[in-house]
Amino acid sequence: MECKLCGSTKFRVSRLRVPDFAELIFFEYPVRCRVCYKREFVNIFTAFRIRRADKRRHAEERRRKKMEQANSARPA
Ligand SMILES: [Zn+2]
Repeated sequence: MECKLCGSTKFRVSRLRVPDFAELIFFEYPVRCRVCYKREFVNIFTAFRIRRADKRRHAEERRRKKMEQANSARPA
């Protein structure tokens, strides 16, 4: 999928608002473009895929930070 505004393919799952529940009935879920921050609705399965990828990325970042901390804490 691509952003309608800037053509970016990087999205993150947006926070749900009350009016979004009307869209959920049609299996649409809000996501936000990482480049231009435009909010769009996508198929809920696409949104879940984005969320899964996001979680994986976060876990990786945490792991990397931990490693860096462990390395810097080690006496030279
Ligand atoms: Zn965009």
